[in-house]
Amino acid sequence: MSPAADRGDDALREAAFAAMTNAYAPYSEFRVGAALLDKNGRIFAGCNVENVSYGGGICAERGAMMAAVAAGAREFTRVLVATEAAEPTPPCGLCRQFLVEFAPDLEVVSVTARGGEARWTLTDLLPAAFTPALLRRSPAP
Ligand SMILES: [Zn+2]
Repeated sequence: MSPAADRGDDALREAAFAAMTNAYAPYSEFRVGAALLDKNGRIFAGCNVENVSYGGGICAERGAMMAAVAAGAREFTRVLVATEAAEPTPPCGLCRQFLVEFAPDLEVVSVTARGGEARWTLTDLLPAAFTPALLRRSPAP
C-alpha cells in the first residue's frame, strides 16, 4: 500500500472543512471545501470563490486542482468534498471533466458538516468521459 493510500480521510476532512470556512460565497451562501490527495500523500485544498459576474466563479474542486497542478502534482488518488448541505453533494459536471483530465480513477468522497457521507468513483460519476487519449488521431491510411 502506498503512503498515499495509507492516509485516511481524516486529514482530507480537516483540510476540506478548513477550506470551506474560507469559501467566498456571498451570492449562493453555499460554501464548499475540497481536499485533493496526490499519489505522494500531499493534500491540496480549495474552496469555491464566487464573483459578482456569476459565471466567473469557480468551484472548490477545481480550485484544489489548480493549487495542486501549480505545485507540480499530476497524479491523484482521492478528492474529498465538504459542505454544509443536507445531503452529500457530488462534484458538478464541469468539475468532473476537470478532474478526469488528471485522475480518471479518482475516488470521490463527499461529506457534510452533520456527518453525512457518500462515495463514488469518478468513473461512476462521469462514464464515457472525454479524456486526453481521445484526442489522438487515427494513423494515416
Ligand atoms: Zn464544480
